[in-house]
Amino acid sequence: MASRFEILYKLDQQTYSVGLPVVITGGNLLQDNYNGRLFAQLKLKSISFRQISAVEVMIQTMDNYNRLVETIAFVYDNLRLYRDNTAGDDISIPLEDNRGKKLNAVVTAVVDSSGNEWRENAPKVSVIEEAAPLESRLDGDKQLAKQYRLKYGFEHNYAPTVGEGIWTCSCGAINLDEEDACHSCGFLRKEIMNPDFNALEQDKRQRQKKEKEHTRNIIIIGIAAALVLAIGIIVISVISPKETFEDEYYDESYEEEYPVEEAADEGYEDPYYIVDEVYYTQAVLKVREGPGKDYRQLTRDELAGEDYYNSEDYPDALLKKGSPVVCLEMSGDWMRIESGWICVRDGDETLVE
Ligand SMILES: [Zn+2]
Repeated sequence: MASRFEILYKLDQQTYSVGLPVVITGGNLLQDNYNGRLFAQLKLKSISFRQISAVEVMIQTMDNYNRLVETIAFVYDNLRLYRDNTAGDDISIPLEDNRGKKLNAVVTAVVDSSGNEWRENAPKVSVIEEAAPLESRLDGDKQLAKQYRLKYGFEHNYAPTVGEGIWTCSCGAINLDEEDACHSCGFLRKEIMNPDFNALEQDKRQRQKKEKEHTRNIIIIGIAAALVLAIGIIVISVISPKETFEDEYYDESYEEEYPVEEAADEGYEDPYYIVDEVYYTQAVLKVREGPGKDYRQLTRDELAGEDYYNSEDYPDALLKKGSPVVCLEMSGDWMRIESGWICVRDGDETLVE
């Protein structure tokens, strides 16, 4: 059976009225198949650091020849819209004329919770282009992109853009022109727009050199371990040729010196992180309630020490790169610190050292 509502037209570009701090991130023109009535549905996103309480939009429908069918104004009221939060997608706005085939919508006024109103009766509408991947501004250099993320944080996946009255950060956040720092990640606009590519390139080379040395050391340790083991086997064979290697001696001494990676997650001691030792974050890291990405991210207020900080406007807890943390417990790739849990590895990347 066909569903009752059918989507006739989709708005799939993010648009905003220049000077008004609300973005229309999507929209649908819906038809009720029972009676042919049309409805408009919009998704609004706040880009204001003030709480938004009302948004007025102008909605237009057109026929297939782009001739105007209908223009209506609609007010979303009683919103409690904080920055980056969305609203409207659960509200169907009834239209009067059922001949519309296409939809257009612009924001004409925004009111904040203190009653301040921004209004543009003939707004200039601008499109927020879909962000290009970060690699595209680094000549496709994946290792340089990795270095960039190590420096700024792993959510930095996009090439930043500049629009009229706004700029988008490499973390994906939309900022207002008047904001010198990204409200989400806290990095300065001028740094995000013009990072020191030479320094980044140097850091990349140094890291790659270190990684090579690390691999070589592991191989050397592996060879040394094999030699120690071989000598052990020979000595045991000589002293007591009839004994087997199921003894505790073999298991314990070997495991203690060269912990194997397959050790079970629960209650195992991580070979690289020791309880009560101090480590330093190598990237901007989120703090969560438990050991895993499904756990809730803590807010700034829930953090313990002063080394944890980021942009004033951003409520979520971020540890700045270089923050000292004391390891209290390990669970897989997650470390428990005073205020919560942080991820110490992402694939082969070490996030805490
Ligand atoms: Zn950012």
